[in-house]
Amino acid sequence: MPEWIDLRSDTVTKPTPEMRRAMAEAEVGDDVYGEDPTVNRLERRAAEIFEREAALFVPTGSMGNLICIRIHCDHGNEVICESRGHIFNFEMASMSAIAGCIPRAVATPDGHLTWKQVEPALRPKTYYYAQTRLIALENTHNLAGGTLLPLEAQEEICDRAHERGLAVHLDGARIFNAAISLGVPPSEIAQYSDSVCFCVSKGLSAPVGSILCGSAGFIERARAYRRMVGGNMRQAGPLAAAGIVALETMADRLVEDHQTAKRLAEELNQIDASLCDPKDVETNLVRVDVRKSGRRAAQWSADLKTKGVLVAPADTHALRFVTHRHISAPDVDTAVSAFAELWKYR
Ligand SMILES: *Cc1c(COP(=O)(O)O)cnc(C)c1O
Repeated sequence: MPEWIDLRSDTVTKPTPEMRRAMAEAEVGDDVYGEDPTVNRLERRAAEIFEREAALFVPTGSMGNLICIRIHCDHGNEVICESRGHIFNFEMASMSAIAGCIPRAVATPDGHLTWKQVEPALRPKTYYYAQTRLIALENTHNLAGGTLLPLEAQEEICDRAHERGLAVHLDGARIFNAAISLGVPPSEIAQYSDSVCFCVSKGLSAPVGSILCGSAGFIERARAYRRMVGGNMRQAGPLAAAGIVALETMADRLVEDHQTAKRLAEELNQIDASLCDPKDVETNLVRVDVRKSGRRAAQWSADLKTKGVLVAPADTHALRFVTHRHISAPDVDTAVSAFAELWKYR
């Protein structure tokens, strides 16, 4: 197999040697009986880090978001989300198909909801309207380019929502990237929302898994609903063991991925300023606008692949480059040269 420079996602990161050792040595038991000591340890540790009463290990972030939506809402409720949000675009409409909710997607220029944008989308409390029940936030925002939702905006949305008896869920798949960039602990970012879901399988490099945090009562109901959607696991200890290593040792190094992303953006900007503005790069994602080339993002993705560089289209005219633990400085040089070569013949 050729050595790809894989910038499609940070989900491609492989477990570290320390994770593999921890996985091999993990103590296990049947988690459906609550008897997997390693899963229990991961859940306790996550709850501690996020300063919540309890946590739940789930196979994927998509399942975690679905469970949270279902627990916050009844069938027929509305969920306000951002129009480029993961739960609206990449989760197979599970909130409708399974949880029975209808999304109300609010378009924003930068992916970041503010209370000013949310408030007009709330349904009046009239019996013939589907009732708004939940506001779903995303930090960092994936499709918008790994951007940070400012803490003040989050606090305002949550405060106003709570005054109205609405719940707020935070899709914090990459919340550790947000934490590094904002210079605050992840618990501070999640503090305003009723529930948070984050991935250990992305830049943190664990092979599988996401974790929900919330109140004890919320997690108890989430555990039951996880079973209903088939997400209960038995001897999941080895996966949890990798998750523990991820939480304990992998967060601080994310700053390197952010530096790599910034340099990648600077170099691409040197090729043509229309491609990206390094100032827009806040974490480990770089959105690259290829509109000026007259070729679509899918074509760019195919052409870059012939040069050993894997990049996913973000939309028709934009590519998404994601940096992670396996992307070295020379990899950035190679990817940029490949891009520059193709740009010449645009
Ligand atoms: C990756 C991601 C998820 C979860 O993805 P899974 O592949 O289901 O684990 C959820 N939300 C956002 C914003 C993501 O980037």
